[in-house]
Amino acid sequence: MSTIGFIGLGQMGTPMALNLIQGGHSVKVFDINEDAVLQLVENGAAAAKSPADAASNSEFVVTMLPNGTLVKSVIFGEDGITSTLSKNALLIDMSTIHPLETDALIKEMEKQGFSMMEAPVGRTSEHAVRGELLIMAGGTKEQIQRAQPLFDCMGSETVDAGGAGKGIRVKIINNYMSIALNALSAEAATLSEAIGLEWETAMKVMSGTPAGKGHFTTTWPGKVLAGDLSPVFMVDLAHKDLGIALDLANQVHVPMPCGAASRELYSIARAAGRGRQDWTAILEQLRVTSGLEPNVK
Ligand code: NAD
Repeated sequence: MSTIGFIGLGQMGTPMALNLIQGGHSVKVFDINEDAVLQLVENGAAAAKSPADAASNSEFVVTMLPNGTLVKSVIFGEDGITSTLSKNALLIDMSTIHPLETDALIKEMEKQGFSMMEAPVGRTSEHAVRGELLIMAGGTKEQIQRAQPLFDCMGSETVDAGGAGKGIRVKIINNYMSIALNALSAEAATLSEAIGLEWETAMKVMSGTPAGKGHFTTTWPGKVLAGDLSPVFMVDLAHKDLGIALDLANQVHVPMPCGAASRELYSIARAAGRGRQDWTAILEQLRVTSGLEPNVK
C-alpha cells in the first residue's frame, strides 16, 4: 500500500481519490475548494494545506486538474509539488491537457531529477465512481508497472500508449473523434427529424451500417487499410449522395457544417483523380495531402 498525494478533487478527482482510499492506500488531498477536501477527509483522507504538503513524504502524487496552466502552477509554483517531492517519488498527471504542455512538464521534471508520467483517463465521472475508467498511460514500462496498483483502483483497463507523451496524444485523438462524431450525429438526427422520419426508423437503419458502427472496423480493414482502392462504393457516388443530403437539408433549413466540410474532402479526392476509387480512398487522399508517405502504390 502506498502513500499518495492527490491534487484536484472535482467531478473526476473526488471519486478517483475515494477509490484509492478504498483500495487501502494512504491518501493526502489538496484542492482550493475546502468543501471538496472536507468530503475526502470524512472518507478517510488526510488534508494537505498546499500542493507541497500533499507531495511531502508521498511515494506518488496524482494531479487531476482542469488545464495545463494549473498543472504547471501546482508542480512548479509557490508551495508547489517540487518543493517537497522526493526524487524517488512518481508524479502522475491524469488531467486532460495539451500534449505539448505535457512534453514540456515532463522535460522540466526530468531536468530537475524528478520522475513524471501522464495517464489521462477516458469515460465519464460515473465510471470514475465505479472505478471503471480507461487509463491511457504514457511513460516508461517501469513507471507504468509501478503505477499499476493505483490505476487498478481507479480504472478497469490500462492501455500502455507507447511512451512519454503518447498517453495524452491518444486521449486527445480519441476525444477529437468522439466529440466531432457527436456533432455529425446531431446533424444526421436533426435532418432526419426535419424531413419527417421517425427516430426509431433512422436509428435502426444507421445502427446497422458504418454510419452507426464507424469505419475503423467495417469499411477500412478490407479496403484502404489493405491497400485495395478498387471500388465497392465509389468516391463519385459518395460525393453525389452527400450532395443530395446537403441539398435536402438546405430546403428544410437545417445547417450541416460537418457534412459540408466532409463533402469538400470527397471533392478533393475527385479532383485528385480518385472519383472511381473506393470511398475509403479519402483516408489515403488526406494522408497524402498532409505530406505522409502514400500507403497505396
Ligand atoms: P472539475 O472542474 O470538476 O475539477 C477540477 C478541480 O480542480 C476542482 O475541484 C477545482 O477546485 C480544482 N482546482 C482548480 N485549481 C486548483 C489549484 N490551483 N489547486 C488545487 N485544485 C485546483 O473537473 P473534472 O471534471 O474533475 O476534470 C478534471 C480533468 O479530467 C480535466 O482535465 C478534464 O478534462 C478531465 N476529464 C474529465 C472527464 C469528465 O467526464 N468530467 C472525463 C475525462 C477526463
